[in-house]
Amino acid sequence: MDVVNLARLFETARERHGDYPAIRAADRWYSSGELFDRAVRFSAGLRALGVKPGDRVVVFMANCPEVVISYHAIWRAGAVVTPIVFLVTPAELRHMVDDSGAVAVITTAELVPKVTAALTGLDLPVIVDLAPHETTPGPLADRGEDELAALLYTGGTTGRSKGVALTHANIDAASSASRQVSFVPGISRSVTALPLSHSYGMLVTVGTQQIPEPESTVLLRFFDAPAWLRVAEQHRVQQAAVVPSMLAMLLAEPLEDFDLSSLRNVFSGAAPLPRAVAEEFTRRVPSVQILEGYGCTETAGILTSTPPGRARPGTVGLPVPGVSLRLVDFDDSPVPPGEPGEIVASGPNVMSAYWDGTRDFTPDGWLRTGDVGTFDDDGYLSIIDRKKDVIIRGGYNVYPRDVEEALIRHPAVTGCAVVGRPDNRLGEEVVAMVTVSSPLTTPEDLIEYAKTVLSANKYPREIRIVEAIPLTSVGKVDRKRLRAGVTSGS
Ligand code: ATP
Repeated sequence: MDVVNLARLFETARERHGDYPAIRAADRWYSSGELFDRAVRFSAGLRALGVKPGDRVVVFMANCPEVVISYHAIWRAGAVVTPIVFLVTPAELRHMVDDSGAVAVITTAELVPKVTAALTGLDLPVIVDLAPHETTPGPLADRGEDELAALLYTGGTTGRSKGVALTHANIDAASSASRQVSFVPGISRSVTALPLSHSYGMLVTVGTQQIPEPESTVLLRFFDAPAWLRVAEQHRVQQAAVVPSMLAMLLAEPLEDFDLSSLRNVFSGAAPLPRAVAEEFTRRVPSVQILEGYGCTETAGILTSTPPGRARPGTVGLPVPGVSLRLVDFDDSPVPPGEPGEIVASGPNVMSAYWDGTRDFTPDGWLRTGDVGTFDDDGYLSIIDRKKDVIIRGGYNVYPRDVEEALIRHPAVTGCAVVGRPDNRLGEEVVAMVTVSSPLTTPEDLIEYAKTVLSANKYPREIRIVEAIPLTSVGKVDRKRLRAGVTSGS
């Protein structure tokens, strides 16, 4: 069997599928041929700059076709894609540049001031708008499948960003498994608003080589609900990958005013999807089935997925081909059937270690995800919550997700996030932040409602009505910020 190499896959796909409209951005289509030719020439430019196989190259841009071109150019040069979300502060960017030992930063003109501020005192080439385009195509560097292809920094939803080292084989395994499960003949037009710098966005965009039909996507620079809807209508979009907060924001729009009848499959992942949100979306856009998946950066973005036609609301689907999952107790022993346990994973997409050399695996080599889940009789997985998000109130475990699922069902609640606040008597107290659609709704009303739907040890004693729930760059609830706000009382 041929050695898996992402640059080679891109080249093979170019030969197999010919020229087709691949990405739409800034009001025009970029053909697969144009993307390939620019990647090949930019790769030669990178080599001319001194980029060598194994070097880390930072890609620091908002979503645009140049991100995809950069990824393929870097792989062709044998180097390591190090994407960093453009919203980070200069100090965070500097941390990741130093930590990765990057040899160059690729960016766009608008972000140069931030890059310059971040790189003070550092002599590093900054490539703006893919400037060193060579006229002669660059050769394909020979890299083994177990060599590094990408260094992705975790979103840091809960702690400091950590570099996840993924090989060509890891990324290929994740994208082919995800394509194998989700591919439906004739469904090939999508809209993408996920950041391409995150494992989920990378997975849905760069893995298109493996499918039998070429895919076209309309790429948004970032998520904007009205723009997303206009694109879905105008381009007769058939599928989309989203995070749950995007669905919640779409629900606040007049969905019925758009012709979304072409839309079939909406994949949701990266964070818990409240059932009430999924139900309302499919009620208002009846052509859609919502298919949940689950994964993390450490597994190149995927562990489970729901096959089209087999949606099972409240679950994140089945382990994708090649992935094995187990539920274990705190001492790594398997939990009895039907009981919750920490999800541990093995498979060809699972990283070997973090960039800093640390790893969190069971003694027999399975990745600890830090998530608690249960399996149903048919093997569908449900995520209960993250282990580290569990609130321990008076000795009882309270899963924020349980409380959130209940509060979001209140007719006036449009968004909700629950965290623990340190409490002298109980250890932790349950606090909810909510966004509401009616100015008449008060925290007291919501606490009264919560008492009717949640047990006495779970219902939040404090509910704060906020303008917006803080989100991370990929659209997850930013629990670090929430906890800091709750503790400081702000
Ligand atoms: P951190 O940096 O704190 O490790 P992160 O959110 O920044 O976290 P990611 O790798 O982006 O890092 O996220 C992976 C996590 O997202 C999973 O471990 C899980 O907690 C959560 N997650 C992903 N998909 C789902 C899903 N469908 N339902 C619930 N949670 C999910």
